[in-house]
Amino acid sequence: MIPSALMFYGPEGVGKFLIAQRFARALHCKYFQEETFGNMQCPSCRKAVVGNHPDILILDEGSKIIKIDEIRMLIQTLNLKAFESESKVLIINNAENMTNEAANAILKTLEEPPKNTHIILIVSNLNEMLSTIKSRCVRVRLKPLQPEDISLILQQNHSIEATKASEVSLLASGSLKTALELSDDTSYAELKEISDSVIKLLEASELDPEMLLSTCEVFDKRQDKEKLIFPKLLDILYLYWRDVLVLNSGVEAKKMYVASGRLISIKANSVFRIMELIETVRKDLVFNINLRLAIEYLILEMRKIIEKEQENP
Ligand SMILES: [Zn+2]
Repeated sequence: MIPSALMFYGPEGVGKFLIAQRFARALHCKYFQEETFGNMQCPSCRKAVVGNHPDILILDEGSKIIKIDEIRMLIQTLNLKAFESESKVLIINNAENMTNEAANAILKTLEEPPKNTHIILIVSNLNEMLSTIKSRCVRVRLKPLQPEDISLILQQNHSIEATKASEVSLLASGSLKTALELSDDTSYAELKEISDSVIKLLEASELDPEMLLSTCEVFDKRQDKEKLIFPKLLDILYLYWRDVLVLNSGVEAKKMYVASGRLISIKANSVFRIMELIETVRKDLVFNINLRLAIEYLILEMRKIIEKEQENP
């Protein structure tokens, strides 16, 4: 028997909403057990896919607050008899964005669900859900995707070239959504360019002030877009230093992000200090810091650590 209350939870971009939609479609498909399910041959599936199946209700407000009025209307519809199938499904995306009143309204419905209905709550941040709602739902955790899987999906479903797919997948923190955003050609090219410059600045024996200026300036322009790129730049730098650490220790790692030209020879302790530094900057990102100043600070501080070690090896 399929539970009347389900909660799909896990980090953003792992496909929770897609899986819920597929699940709703499967519930209504007459041919679910047959091979034709994937072909979407039946009228029910075709309606579900374009989003106008009368027995599949979807609330997807993106990152907006979900108000009680919206929930009330959906519950009313849920209480009506199913139009075309035996059951009705209600999917609420980003359910943690419900106001308290909206959440309490859902809770009531979860406590006494109308016959033959299924409610699926999609949640990225489990801590923000009322524990009373959590305990009412059968919870299904969706894990972050492995880089190898993301890379494969990018290549097979989105025709992204193998090298790019594998690089992007390492930076996507298990999220297909992030991976797709990063594979967007301009983002990818920009990220590559910036990270290459930063690494060059670190590897150069003398600091090139003009290059420092032009590299950091990038973050002056469009802060909104750079907000996606900046954390990924930090990821690349982190991976770079991890690789330096591994290469310096003489161990061959399974996965190398950076095939460095002039490898910086540096003690493990200093690498750890640099990695800590990167994480400090990452934590500061929540405070809406000036990205240009942050990257300049980071580059200069990293260089200080490198230079100090090269003075007294
Ligand atoms: Zn079907």
